[in-house]
Amino acid sequence: MSVGIRYDWQQAEIQEIYNTPLLELVYQAASVHRQYHHPRQIQVCKLISIKTGACPEDCSYCAQSSRYKTEVKPQGLMDKETVVNIAQQAKSSGVSRVCMGAAWREVRDNSQFEQVLEMVQEVTNLGLEVCCTLGMLTPNQAKRLEDAGLYAYNHNLDTSEEYYSTIITTRTYQDRLNTINHVRQTQVTVCSGGILGLGETVADRIAMLQTLASLQPHPDSVPINILSQVEGTPLENQPDVPVWDVVRAIATARIIMPAADIRLSAGRARLSQVEQAFCFMAGANSIFSSENGHMLTVTTPCPGYDADAQMLNLLGLEMRPPASVRQKAVVEAK
Ligand code: SAM
Ligand code: SF4
Repeated sequence: MSVGIRYDWQQAEIQEIYNTPLLELVYQAASVHRQYHHPRQIQVCKLISIKTGACPEDCSYCAQSSRYKTEVKPQGLMDKETVVNIAQQAKSSGVSRVCMGAAWREVRDNSQFEQVLEMVQEVTNLGLEVCCTLGMLTPNQAKRLEDAGLYAYNHNLDTSEEYYSTIITTRTYQDRLNTINHVRQTQVTVCSGGILGLGETVADRIAMLQTLASLQPHPDSVPINILSQVEGTPLENQPDVPVWDVVRAIATARIIMPAADIRLSAGRARLSQVEQAFCFMAGANSIFSSENGHMLTVTTPCPGYDADAQMLNLLGLEMRPPASVRQKAVVEAK
């Protein structure tokens, strides 16, 4: 199977891909993956929660919303040295991308934003790709992040436009698209994906994938999260998403957004190595790993650096270097 990059995928076409007999779907996605990506390389990312909890938003899945009583203890903005030390340690474990997450509704033009800009600069200077996920941005804030050297901005659509208001009421789908659009006015790359297991239908998943694949250009990075059910949130009793749904969503995203990095993100800790291997076969080419066993907060478990290094080794996969190193290698080869 060979596909070009298209922005006009129809829901019926995406549905047909999603519903392809499973092994045929994985084979097709693996073929597309090989046209656009180094088949052995997996990017390992590290998420740092630079500001934790006490978020005014009501995202029903989130441990950090102030509306729900969860295990998360709110913490103010981390100091720059701590962030740089964590990033340095991550780099020495093979991580090439560091994502800084803040439990904010939106960025405010204050001293905390200035501190984040400094963090972006310093972590970028370590030779890492830096991504931020800080909530909504104005065009000017996006520009300031670009000037600080930011490589990517994450802002997930999470689900379909139709289902969004069942999950979040404190902002709209259009708010999300607006921030993505503000990032698009800069050189900062866009990272945007969703969550499986919020109680959405397959039609919702397809609608979300269609919205992502209609963005021109496609997001460079598409995280596929599996809901981590957090005690105290409205979604605490959601059933586990079957792994084959995860594989189908990854494979479909790979086929319709062939050049994007597809990131197997939250919820990976509950997948066995065999299940993760299937996800890689279906086109996932990135994972989040951590030294402390959690991805963002204590409520989202995440495998450790050593366990992941062993798994990648076992599967004959290798850790991808950061974009700056890849570009340098291309220039030197010329
Ligand atoms: N406050 C910022 C925002 O919402 O854009 C950034 C932080 S937020 C934690 C980043 C993403 O993590 C969410 O969009 C969601 O996709 C994912 N996430 C958060 N909690 C999760 C959970 N319990 N299970 C799966 N994914 C989750
Ligand atoms: Fe706040 Fe982000 Fe959690 Fe929503 S997902 S409650 S915006 S931290």
